[in-house]
Amino acid sequence: MKNLWSNADSKKFKDDLALRVYTSRLLGQDSSLVLHGGGNTSVKITETNVVGEQEEILYVKGSGWDLVSIEKAGFSPVRIAHMLKLAKLDKLSDPQMVNELKTQLTNSSAPTPSVETILHAILPFKYVDHTHADTVVTISNTLNGEDRIREIYGNRVVIVPYVMPGFDLSKDVYRLFSEQATSKTEGIVLLNHGIFSFGETAKQSYDRMIDLVSLAEEYLINQNAWDIEKPSVSTNTNSIRNEVAKLRNEISSTIGSPILLNLTNSEQGIDFSNRYDVVDIATRGPITPDHVIRTKRIPMIGRDVDSYAQKYKAYFDKHEPNAKERKTMLDVAPRVVLDQEFGLCAIGKNMSEIEIISDLYEHTMQCILRAEKLGGWQALPASDIFDLEYWDLEQSKLQKGDKEPEFQGEVVLVTGAASGIGKACVESFIARGCAVIGVDLDIAIENTSSNNYLGLVCDITDEESLKDMLEISVRHFGGIDMVVINAGIFPKSKTVANLDTDEWRKVFSVNLDANLSLLREVYPLLKLAPNKGRVVIIGSKNVPAPGPGAASYSTSKAALNQLMRVLAMEWGSDSIRLNALHPNAVFDTGIWTDEVLKSRASHYGLGVNEYKTNNVMKVEITSKDVAELAAEMCGHLFAKTTAAQVPVDGGNDRVI
Ligand code: ZN
Repeated sequence: MKNLWSNADSKKFKDDLALRVYTSRLLGQDSSLVLHGGGNTSVKITETNVVGEQEEILYVKGSGWDLVSIEKAGFSPVRIAHMLKLAKLDKLSDPQMVNELKTQLTNSSAPTPSVETILHAILPFKYVDHTHADTVVTISNTLNGEDRIREIYGNRVVIVPYVMPGFDLSKDVYRLFSEQATSKTEGIVLLNHGIFSFGETAKQSYDRMIDLVSLAEEYLINQNAWDIEKPSVSTNTNSIRNEVAKLRNEISSTIGSPILLNLTNSEQGIDFSNRYDVVDIATRGPITPDHVIRTKRIPMIGRDVDSYAQKYKAYFDKHEPNAKERKTMLDVAPRVVLDQEFGLCAIGKNMSEIEIISDLYEHTMQCILRAEKLGGWQALPASDIFDLEYWDLEQSKLQKGDKEPEFQGEVVLVTGAASGIGKACVESFIARGCAVIGVDLDIAIENTSSNNYLGLVCDITDEESLKDMLEISVRHFGGIDMVVINAGIFPKSKTVANLDTDEWRKVFSVNLDANLSLLREVYPLLKLAPNKGRVVIIGSKNVPAPGPGAASYSTSKAALNQLMRVLAMEWGSDSIRLNALHPNAVFDTGIWTDEVLKSRASHYGLGVNEYKTNNVMKVEITSKDVAELAAEMCGHLFAKTTAAQVPVDGGNDRVI
């Protein structure tokens, strides 16, 4: 294990808190120590308050901050004197403890202090570092784990048996530390959880963490339990999109709301899912409390959601759950699926959750495989798992009363999404919590700032590319629930007398034929949409009110409109609804080059600006106006509407 301390770098961090920031970031850089907001650190500083009194303040990691990127503002200042009084109480409930932590802050805008705050406060050292080091957890999660930890560390650490993080753990640590600590003590191992180190300087505490974890690493190497066999991977190239969508549909209906399902493409995941003993080793329990909080459930093996749900309930029935636990038992959705064909699949409400879950399970698999080489993986007893379910203090980002985004856990496919109306649709759906697949010929489609977005270059007129695109999309998000048919071409103005057949065919191939193929291919997926499939056709004012010089465009859009009406009849019994909107004069789109704009304006004998607001209401229509309506058409307002055609044109006297 590498010690990342640099004398040169550390000099840039001048005071005690700044050095706390520096070594916290060093810990955060190693994902085998700290993963996705796990772990926490603190420093004790004497300060003079506003009435001139000296106070001992504990700066401890606040919730919502990740060690790798933490700043001074990420540490919550808590009064130590009060924490020490709390530690002497016999009992303190979770809500009481959170209240005490928050009301003892010296800065009202600081984040909520870590649930392990009291524990940091009672350790009599200036700096305290805490990680969930994979190696330490791996060793303690084996048969005779405690003996092995004792063998490795001797009297360098105090060993604390597993207790859920919070007040009771602080009490145990307080008691065991006062009984057992000596001048040689450098840290504490919390069995099945992680490790603490401490020191009088940031460097000493950090060095000790690295030294202690390195010992665990060396132990695994010496016991021949470090290297795990490289996976023998065979990438699955079969078309599996409909099976994946079916699995997602079943899991979604088990929990009663749509979720995303991501085939992580993990090589280890495929290998692990195909182990003969996968059922045994993967269901022996989660790796650490921290992992439990996020992954929450034992993984599902294979695709049988019903029997998973029954087994899960039966499993916990044995442990006589209380009322609170029973409530949770109803929510039996897995967070991880291990399937021989799909490999490791992660489940979440959005891609941020999925990334956390798949990273955690990657680490879990590694820990399990190493522990198996060390005599056998043995995780927490099942009865403890429930306690952990409720330990959500550090993780819960949604405040009480916050509304969940409308399209959370759902997926939309938008064609022609690199610019104009398509790009605006991407933004409107992302804003509603939707996962978005953007498709375009333009490479710019791949640019994104959201991990809930997948941009794919695809020529939708090529059926093979189209199918590949759908396959990639479904493996990424688990299905497709909504489609916005937007891609289209608008050729230069030409009368029919001057129109050649090739141009006519080209326009039809993009504006009509490609959409027929797309809708046909996506139909099985729309049927499996947890909240029912929806299609929005971006039509044109030219459908109800065509103009001269645009025969191929107007006719192809009219044919697409008619296709929508036929499909509304054919797919209605599958609860799939299709609606069209007819924009007019939207000039911030890809097809409206200056040339086309001038040409169309002159057809009507107007200047360009006059042409832009040439409607009854004299308003300009933007891509965003169209996109917002497209998104609303997929929402609950239009839940019972199909085959509607709604203008977005500021009022057009020929349409009215
Ligand atoms: Zn912890």
